[in-house]
Amino acid sequence: MKALVWEAPRTMVMREQAQPHAEADEVVVKVAYAGICGSELSGYLGHNALRVPPLVMGHEFAGEIVEVGESAAQRNPAIAKGQLVTVNPLGYCGVCEFCKRGLNQLCVKRKLIGAHRPGAFAEYVTAPAELVSPLPEGMPLRVGALTEPVACGVRIGELAGDVQGEVCLVIGAGPIGLLAIQALIHQGAARIFVAELDEERLAMGAAIGGEALNPKQVDVVQVVREATGGLGAAVTIDAVGTAKTRQQCVSAVRSTGTVILSGLHEESSVMPAAEIIRREIVVRGSFAYSPANFAEALRLLAEGTIRLDPWIIEAPLAEGGQWFDRLIDAPGNVAKVLLIPQD
Ligand SMILES: [Zn+2]
Ligand SMILES: [Zn+2]
Repeated sequence: MKALVWEAPRTMVMREQAQPHAEADEVVVKVAYAGICGSELSGYLGHNALRVPPLVMGHEFAGEIVEVGESAAQRNPAIAKGQLVTVNPLGYCGVCEFCKRGLNQLCVKRKLIGAHRPGAFAEYVTAPAELVSPLPEGMPLRVGALTEPVACGVRIGELAGDVQGEVCLVIGAGPIGLLAIQALIHQGAARIFVAELDEERLAMGAAIGGEALNPKQVDVVQVVREATGGLGAAVTIDAVGTAKTRQQCVSAVRSTGTVILSGLHEESSVMPAAEIIRREIVVRGSFAYSPANFAEALRLLAEGTIRLDPWIIEAPLAEGGQWFDRLIDAPGNVAKVLLIPQD
């Protein structure tokens, strides 16, 4: 089969590889669409300890089950050959403290498809049976491939809590920022400001319901404070992850409000700890999604509550490397690139 292999920083090569077969508790999925994730962009540059070359990345995908391992159907009775599915790429043990609490994304033995095992930038990929979800009746495969990033937005919304009638701020209008805005709208937030330096990305944020702020033109913190009688937003979300955006999220949130950190641009940065203390601000990390968030994402996509259209690009797998470069250098108004491995 053909596979797009990351071999060194900024180097992706199409290679011929043996077609994988299912272990007893696995299925083989013939990949229809596989999205490029922001975390893979830093991996591609070699900035990510999780990903070691040579590696087939790809963890946002949908396709058709073409092989079912002997005991796979026992582990997940919902699956069968020929079924159209998407896959939660975060493998978990099921028995550790976090798995028992439904927080499988924090499993102590977590294994990510496309990082710890071969991913979906290939014609075929294997996956543990319990991670496979059939697509709801009538859902196109290209929509199913968005379930994983949408689930990240659902998790952010869950951690934001009750935002009914509240003012929120989302910094960053990349895919996760766009999805977080929609999760907050779905949860009844009254106003959502979106801050983004790139005008094209900012326009996407405005088109899905955010109130656009370009930090080059306005003082984001000041605008949010003025809109809230000087208090600050109930919830602020950082979908970028620089020292600057993390600090803005703290400054723009009201006392006792919640700052959710999702963006991972910088590994560590200076935070205004005294302000967090004196204003009793809650700072929360948000990582990936629980299995419940993943199921909710599939439901929201099925009912059309969340979308990334019309900013989705479809491209042949062979052009994957070029799209990695483009997304790093000048993403513009592209919310998601879906690679197509089949001819
Ligand atoms: Zn992802
Ligand atoms: Zn576990």
